[in-house]
Amino acid sequence: MMGIHSKRKGLLIVLSGPSGAGKGTVCSALRTFAPELVYSVSATTRKPREGEVDGVNYFFKSRQEFEGMIEEDQLLEWAQYVNNYYGTPREFVEEQLEQGKDVLLEIEVQGAKQVKKRFPEGVFIFLLPPSLKELASRIRGRGTETEEVVRHRMSAAEQELGEVEYYDYVVVNDRVEDACDRVRSILTAEHCRRDRF
Ligand code: 5GP
Repeated sequence: MMGIHSKRKGLLIVLSGPSGAGKGTVCSALRTFAPELVYSVSATTRKPREGEVDGVNYFFKSRQEFEGMIEEDQLLEWAQYVNNYYGTPREFVEEQLEQGKDVLLEIEVQGAKQVKKRFPEGVFIFLLPPSLKELASRIRGRGTETEEVVRHRMSAAEQELGEVEYYDYVVVNDRVEDACDRVRSILTAEHCRRDRF
């Protein structure tokens, strides 16, 4: 056990789960419910949706730029998801953890698996929609995707549901506020773990 009050590294928290589980919604609500967390901004080759801002929602990159980031080992993890690349810039996350800040990654499951290999001590939370039916209507309800993309996202989501065994915690996203409460409770518990001291 380290000395009492010795400086600790921050916790790396991975919030993952199928598209349509409401990761994005929970993540933005957490900014209010858990303002002490640092939110990592991902890089992607996906085109911005209306209202999305470069450097805030994502760092929007060309495929060539993204592949350059992979080659230069600038990403903590990356994945191809529905024909686009998504990845977490590594340096920012490492710096924040070093400074004792807790960092939250909102990523899909292939990326979460890679993070688990590099950071087995991370806190892995799987967000579940209340039902598959609800999942489909959330993906559709977003209203920004074509029918083909909706179908592709549904089949990705069904596969992703099978990955739950890699996670430490499961949070059902029935109501966003309740899901945020559960995430907060998990973080409180993680901070109290004996093996973190
Ligand atoms: P969207 O296009 O809806 O913003 O995101 C699509 C999927 O990519 C979501 O499941 C989201 O969590 C995931 N995602 C966002 N950023 C990253 C990232 O940096 N790495 C990985 N692996 N997935 C990400």
